[in-house]
Amino acid sequence: MLAVDEALSIVLQNAQPLETEEINFHACVGRLLREDVVADIEMPPFPRSAVDGFAVRAVDLAHVPARFKVVGEIPAGTFPDFRVGRGEAAQIMTGAPVPDGADAVQMVEQSRLDGDHVELFEAVQSGQNVAPRGSEVARGDIVLRSGTRLDPPAVAVSATVGKTRLVVGKRPSASVIATGDELVHPSKLPGPGQIRNSNGFSLAAQCTQAGSSTHYLGVAKDTESSLEELIRQGLGDDLLLLSGGVSMGRFDLVEKVLEKLGVRLLFEAVALKPGKPLVFGLSNDGTLVFGLPGNPVSTMVTFELFVRAAIARLEGASHPVRPLLKAALGAKLANRGSRRAFLPGWVRSDENGALLAYPIATRGSGDIVAFSKANALLIVPEDRDAIPTGDDVRFYPLDSFLHKEDQWQAGNHKS
Ligand code: AMP
Ligand code: MG
Repeated sequence: MLAVDEALSIVLQNAQPLETEEINFHACVGRLLREDVVADIEMPPFPRSAVDGFAVRAVDLAHVPARFKVVGEIPAGTFPDFRVGRGEAAQIMTGAPVPDGADAVQMVEQSRLDGDHVELFEAVQSGQNVAPRGSEVARGDIVLRSGTRLDPPAVAVSATVGKTRLVVGKRPSASVIATGDELVHPSKLPGPGQIRNSNGFSLAAQCTQAGSSTHYLGVAKDTESSLEELIRQGLGDDLLLLSGGVSMGRFDLVEKVLEKLGVRLLFEAVALKPGKPLVFGLSNDGTLVFGLPGNPVSTMVTFELFVRAAIARLEGASHPVRPLLKAALGAKLANRGSRRAFLPGWVRSDENGALLAYPIATRGSGDIVAFSKANALLIVPEDRDAIPTGDDVRFYPLDSFLHKEDQWQAGNHKS
């Protein structure tokens, strides 16, 4: 069976970055930058004071306290047209240009004004509290690199270098189809043998969060004609995601219908738990097609590991795969079988900031409620049956790693 890493590299090889578009820099958060952004000016553009205080020659302040003649005032937004000479000081505000002649600024807290003189109580080093012109960025420096996911600091950088329009990857479009005769809408009470459709909606939510525009096409019945009708609609998008219908059952018809519609299947199983029956293929028009296993936890995990990376690569990400982190196991983690396991876990930091990981009790890949409490996927390599308490475990941080409240785990996991 195909290893997880091989499957991922097949997906990424077949996901070519889409076209680009130009957008306003203040609307760029979450988008993928597709050009290098270059500084049009030096930063800072003038020697900038880091504090409110007095600009002086540091040599004049070698012996303290020292008395200076105040020769001018420099509010932010003005440019001094005078020099600071020997025994002179200029009153200066944070962010304002340090006048010629001065090479340091002493903080206002270390001063006492006395008419047109000021007394300074502490010495300064040459250069203290002054950011020299061009010391942060030279003109022409690359300040944002193509392939970067844009975030609020990137907004600030774009603003700073006057780059008000940014070339970004187009958002990939994704169609979502749930499959299964047993599915009813969440607003209905399930009848005998029925269950509520959660994957259709959770997949659409994952797509949106991962940065694609999403078309939810509804539920296909477990018949070739019903599947065919919806799959045809979905093949117009950059990605088509189906849930269910990819196992070995008599009514698992997804692969058959995909092939009938010209989708070339590149793999049909991965050595992954949960998520073994993951199907991936390419349509004639280049749509990336994922047949995700129907168990709600499997659907979410395979999306995380494969579809998220595909979306990022379509946008043009240079690093489409999330980094795996490491924590010490707070309780034993077991995994029967030879597939790499990604098990729901809770990772928290102890008093010293060290990370501790706890497996979450789960009934398996149907147990979406247990999964919803996780903020990480704890990884058991294919050649291990268990990882003992105290050993390091690698984990995949879910989005909720940064913000999931400790509602369920509080009290459970004392260290
Ligand atoms: P399947 O691969 O189609 O046999 O589905 C595997 C399991 O996932 C079955 O228990 C299905 O009832 C369940 N399942 C499939 N699709 C969904 C869905 N959209 N929402 C919730 N559960 C689903
Ligand atoms: Mg099914």
